[in-house]
Amino acid sequence: MNTTWHVLGAGSLGSLWACRLARSGQAVRLILRNEGRLQAYQAAGGLTLIEQGVPHTFAIDAEGPEAQTPIKRLLVACKAYDAALAVAALKHRLNADSEVILLQNGLGSQDEVAAQLGHARCILASSTEGAFRHADWQVVFAGHGFTWLGDPLRPQPPDWLGALSASGIAHEWTADITTRPWRKLALNCAINPLTVLYDCRNGGLQSHHCEVASLCAELAHLLEHCGQPAAAQDLHSEVERVIHATAANFSSMHQDVSQRRRTEIHYLLGHACATAQRHGLVLAHLQQLQVRLVQHLNALGLPTE
Ligand code: NAP
Repeated sequence: MNTTWHVLGAGSLGSLWACRLARSGQAVRLILRNEGRLQAYQAAGGLTLIEQGVPHTFAIDAEGPEAQTPIKRLLVACKAYDAALAVAALKHRLNADSEVILLQNGLGSQDEVAAQLGHARCILASSTEGAFRHADWQVVFAGHGFTWLGDPLRPQPPDWLGALSASGIAHEWTADITTRPWRKLALNCAINPLTVLYDCRNGGLQSHHCEVASLCAELAHLLEHCGQPAAAQDLHSEVERVIHATAANFSSMHQDVSQRRRTEIHYLLGHACATAQRHGLVLAHLQQLQVRLVQHLNALGLPTE
C-alpha cells in the first residue's frame, strides 16, 4: 500500500487535492475539525469534485482530531490563520520522517507551522490553481493552474512527485521556492486591498493607475531589500497585466469581505508591512493602505489579524 496522504482541512483546495489523489489510486484520509464535522461528512457520503459542471463523488476516508495513528505525509490545507494551531494538535502523530506540505497563501504561517514542529520536514507549495466550495463537501475546480513545491532547507525532491503527475496535478519542484510566494504576495498587496477599499472588480483599478504604480514601486523596493530581487522584477507591468486579464473578476479578498469571511490580511499586506518595519523601511503608501484596510475591516466587524 502506498503512503497515506493525510489531508488537514477539507475546504476548497484540500478537497481538490484529495479528490484528484484518490481518483488516481492514492491512499487519502481527511482530518476534520471536530466530531460534528466528521458526522456531517459521513452523512454526505464523500467529497464531490465538480469539473466543467460534471460532479464525481469520492468516498474518501476521514477522521476527527481524536485519531492517534502516526502520520507520514500531511497536506495542510487550512487557511493561513488556522494552520499552526491545526498542525500543533497533530504534533504527537508526526516524527522526523514525516513530511508536511503547506498550501497556504501569503507568508508567515509557514514559519508558524515550522516552529510547532521542529523535527518533521516542511515543504512549501505555491499554487495558481483555483477552487471554491459549492456547498459543504463539494468543490468546484474553477481554474487550472500550476503548483511550485520546494524546501528552502533541503533541495532534494521527495519521492512522491510522480503521484502528483499521475493525479493530474501540474507541478514543479524548485530549489528557489521562496521567490514564488513573495511574488504572489506582492501581486496580492498591489491589487486585493484596493479592490476592497474601492469595492470594485480587479478591472476597476484601471482608474487608480497612480496609486497602483506607487504601491508597486514600494513593494519592489521591499522585495529587493529583503533578498528577493527576482520577485521584484517587472512587478508593475505584471500587476497591470493581471488587472487587465482579470478585469471582470472580484479578488479573493473582495469575495471574503463581501461574504463577511475572515481575510488572510495578516499573512499578506500585514506580512509585507511587518517585514518593512523590521528592515527599517518607510513605505508610506503601503503602510497607509494597511491602516485604511484595517479601519475598513474594523468597521465591518471583521478580524484584522
Ligand atoms: P477553505 O475553503 O476555507 O478551507 C479551509 C479548510 O480548513 C476548511 O474546510 C476548514 O474546516 C479547515 N480547517 C480549519 N481549521 C481546521 C482544523 N483545526 N482541523 C481540520 N480542518 C480545519 O480555504 P481554501 O480556499 O481551501 O484555502 C486554503 C489555503 O489555500 C489558503 O491559505 C488559501 O489562500 C490557499 N489557496 C487557496 C486557493 C483556492 O482556490 N481556494 C488557491 C490557492 C491558494 P471547516 O470546513 O470545518 O471550516
